[in-house]
Amino acid sequence: MSVTVVGSLNEDVLLAVGRLPGRGETVVARTATFAPGGKGANQAAAAGLLGPGVHMVGRLGEDAAGDRQLAALAASRVNVRRVLRTTGVPTGSATIPVEDGSGENLIVVVPGANALLTAADVDVPSVREAQVLLLQLEVPLDAVEAAARAATGTVVLTPAPPRELPAALLERVDVLLPNEHELVHLAGAGPGDRSPAALADLARQVTRGAVVVTLGARGVLVVPADGGPALLQAPPPVAVVDTTGAGDCFSGALGQALAAGAGLPDAVRYAVAAAALSTTGPGARGALPDDETVRALLP
Ligand code: ATP
Repeated sequence: MSVTVVGSLNEDVLLAVGRLPGRGETVVARTATFAPGGKGANQAAAAGLLGPGVHMVGRLGEDAAGDRQLAALAASRVNVRRVLRTTGVPTGSATIPVEDGSGENLIVVVPGANALLTAADVDVPSVREAQVLLLQLEVPLDAVEAAARAATGTVVLTPAPPRELPAALLERVDVLLPNEHELVHLAGAGPGDRSPAALADLARQVTRGAVVVTLGARGVLVVPADGGPALLQAPPPVAVVDTTGAGDCFSGALGQALAAGAGLPDAVRYAVAAAALSTTGPGARGALPDDETVRALLP
């Protein structure tokens, strides 16, 4: 059983501010919190806590933020042998002032070492031989495409941040995993009907493969590859604290369930339960569940 994630590793710097700064303005933050992040690393951490055989492939700087990320991934049982260190370039970061009360934020991303991941970096056995390969778009498209080409297992792509996808990449993807906004972007759709039936139509315009559209508190819409009917899967009731990273947890859990041999409907049920649990604590990794806790929530 194995899940490999090729993607970004960041350090999130969360700044608690009374008010977001305007142009040219200085504000003083009450606190600064450093947390390991990045879509790729978050997906790997979620998958690692749910089961064995998880590998991460990506690039970090040769700095303290990189050390902290590696320690966090190792604590989540992720194999980091193929996380390369780059000298002279910082670990990727996202600096996020968050306004007290409103929760409104600004995000400044420094791709750092993530931008240097190459096609050669992903030409490794853990990518070729993974039962499930999890991809996102926070590293160069070249590396994403090379990983998808090399894969022999099931390829799951979260198309975030949204961008146009080459047809050759889409053909290699078995499960496309957009949120509603990313799906609308991929389909090039204007404003209009966003009912489940309309979203399923958009999904079928984008690819012939399976599409799982994440819909926040509404759960997910599963659009099967065989042209069968789309199915809405609602989350179980949970006490929501913070939904940051719920999508990453969903992806990691879907990967683990598919690698364990589940079909797409069962794997989606498992991932919906895991993602719901992940919203019950703070931050992207504050409440990632283990396998037993997820199973206890399944019907
Ligand atoms: P993020 O970028 O924060 O990871 P996302 O936009 O990629 O989020 P969402 O659609 O917000 O993804 O959430 C992913 C999945 O997490 C949802 O499909 C759902 O299963 C679960 N989820 C999100 N919010 C809630 C919630 N309030 N209650 C229960 N489950 C939730």
